[in-house]
Amino acid sequence: MTASPAPSARPAPPDLAELVATRRDLHAHPELGFQEHRTAALVAERLRGLGYDVRTGVGRTGVVGVLRGGAAGGGRTVLLRADMDALPIQEAGEAPYRSTAPGVMHACGHDAHVAIGLAVARRLAAARAEWRGTVKFAFQPAEESGDGAEAMIADGALAAPSVDAAFGLHVINSLPVGAISATSGPIMGSVDNFTIRIRGKGGHAAMPQDAVDPVLAAAQVVTALQSLVSRAADPFDHLVVSVTRVAAGTASNVIPDDAELEGTVRSLGGRIYADVAERLTRIATGVAAALGCTAAVDYRRWTPVTVNDEAMTALVARVAGALVGPANVRTDARMLGGEDFSLFLQKVPGCFAWVGSANAARGLDAPHHSPRFDIDEAALPIGADLLERVAREYLR
Ligand SMILES: [Zn+2]
Ligand SMILES: [Zn+2]
Repeated sequence: MTASPAPSARPAPPDLAELVATRRDLHAHPELGFQEHRTAALVAERLRGLGYDVRTGVGRTGVVGVLRGGAAGGGRTVLLRADMDALPIQEAGEAPYRSTAPGVMHACGHDAHVAIGLAVARRLAAARAEWRGTVKFAFQPAEESGDGAEAMIADGALAAPSVDAAFGLHVINSLPVGAISATSGPIMGSVDNFTIRIRGKGGHAAMPQDAVDPVLAAAQVVTALQSLVSRAADPFDHLVVSVTRVAAGTASNVIPDDAELEGTVRSLGGRIYADVAERLTRIATGVAAALGCTAAVDYRRWTPVTVNDEAMTALVARVAGALVGPANVRTDARMLGGEDFSLFLQKVPGCFAWVGSANAARGLDAPHHSPRFDIDEAALPIGADLLERVAREYLR
C-alpha cells in the first residue's frame, strides 16, 4: 500500500461535534423497524429547520426531505438514503451512549447513517446558493427486515420530483476506518427465504417399522440442499444455502409426525438465481418422497441483488480517492448479506458505498449484529464528506 493520509490526519470538519452528538443520541434511543417514531420526528424537525420541504409517514415511518439548489440551470434530482432502524439485540457494550431501550440496539450502524444524512442535509442547505438541481433525502425505516425501501417507493419516494440517481452508504466493520469501498456491479446478495414442512407418520421410537420418520428425511434434505452449491451453481457464480432452523419432536422415545426446516438462499444473480427455487423444491420433495414422507416448500423471494451502476460507482470512487487517498479505496469488495437499497437501484442508477468504521486497536471491530458492535466515530465525517461531495459532483 502506498502512503496515504490517515483519517486522524485529516482536519476535523466544523460539524464533527454535532455528528458525534447526533449519532450518540440515536444510539442511546434505538427503535425497531417501522417503530422509528422518535428518530423520524428528530429527522423531520431538523430538516424543516434547514428549509427542506418535508414529508413524513412515507412508507409508514419514513421521512423525505427535498431542497432545490440556488444556482441557475440543471434539473437533475439526486436521492440520498439513510436507513434508521435498529435490531432486537440487548447491547453488551459499556459505552456511555449505550442503548437505553431494553433488548433494542443499533448493532448495524444505522444511527451513524442518520447522523451522516443530517450533517449532509445541513451542509447542502448552508451552501444552497452554490449548487443547482434538487437533493432529496430518504430517511428509511425497516431496512433490517427488508421492508422499508419497498414501502417508501410504494409511497412515492422516487416521484415528485422524480429521482435521476440514488446514493447510499453503510459504515462497515470489515474495513478499517479510513477505507472506502465503491465496487461496480453486483455487490450484495439476493435474499430468499424458505420453509420446508416434512410430513411423515409418528410412532414409537423403538418400532420405526410402523412409522415414517420425518426427522431422518429432514436430516437428508439438509445435506442434499448443499448439492445446490456444489453441483447446481456455476462454479463462477456465487451461492449460499443455509438451513438455520431445524424443528421436530417432543421426546426421546417418540418419532414425530412432522419436521420443519427454515433457511435462506443468497446469490449475486446469474442463472442459479432464476433456477434455485425450483431446484430446491425438487430436492426437498424428492428426498422426502424417497423416504416415504411428503414435503411442502414455501419459497419466498425477499430483496434482490444490490447492483451498483458503473458510471455512478466511478463517480463515487473518484470522490473517495480524493477524500482518503486512492490506495484506501476498494473497488472489489462484495458480500452476500442483503440490502434493500437494491430496490432503489432497480429503479434508478446509483451506488451503495461502504465506509470503513473498524479500529481494532481500540477494540471497535465487533461484527455487525453483534451485541458488542460499535464503530470508530472518525468514520462519521468521512461518510458525510463522501455523500456531500458525491451529491454536489452529480448535480454539477
Ligand atoms: Zn444489519
Ligand atoms: Zn445495516
